[in-house]
Amino acid sequence: MGAAGELVAVTDSRRPATARRDQLVELYRELKDCQKCPLAQGRTTVVFGTGNADADLMFVGEAPGFHEDQQGKPFVGRAGKLLDQLLEEIGMSRNDCFIANTLKCRPPDNRDPMPDEIEACRPHLERQIELIEPRVICTLGNFATKLLTGSPQGITRVRGVPQAHEIAGQSVFLYPIFHPAAALRTTAMLEQLRADFQALPRLLAEVAPALEEPGEPEPELAGVGPPVDQLGLF
Ligand code: URA
Repeated sequence: MGAAGELVAVTDSRRPATARRDQLVELYRELKDCQKCPLAQGRTTVVFGTGNADADLMFVGEAPGFHEDQQGKPFVGRAGKLLDQLLEEIGMSRNDCFIANTLKCRPPDNRDPMPDEIEACRPHLERQIELIEPRVICTLGNFATKLLTGSPQGITRVRGVPQAHEIAGQSVFLYPIFHPAAALRTTAMLEQLRADFQALPRLLAEVAPALEEPGEPEPELAGVGPPVDQLGLF
């Protein structure tokens, strides 16, 4: 993690968490009827994302599947259970991170995202990143990794090595790792994913302290908000 040194020199200019969360709620309201691409026709729900709106850690997956589309939450199926388990193994939970996807709407029959859909949805993800201000973004699998690194290099080549990037005007570490759905298919991938998760606390600890500024502690945001639609989810 030698590149970590580059990031610790950056000054923390985070805006107050409450203001950023309010804007995230506003973004959710704007997006819940999004018609920017043809996926709008086939979806049940726009899956905005869930978790702590002020998290240092963000996960970006591929796209909602059947259950996510029905329930309006990301990673609620088998891959999500694995994600929960891996988080638990490093002493974290969904309340410690924000989970979103490359696409907010389910592609028909869970097919791969198409380039024009990814482009249509990209500003939504970038705005989320801008508002949450994560310090580490774990990209899960090829689609999120290629989109956010801006490189065609696939996940197998780049996994497990943090990359310093500027996204939505912010310095972040992208940390590409396998998609949990892929890890459900082979034991070798599962063990690599587990090993990459085990490195996360150290990466977060390395990035955080030098960026932290003294001052009033921010209010706890997870679960705060009106319990309507998906608003209570972040
Ligand atoms: N796979 C994803 O990439 N995202 C989800 O939300 C669920 C499964």
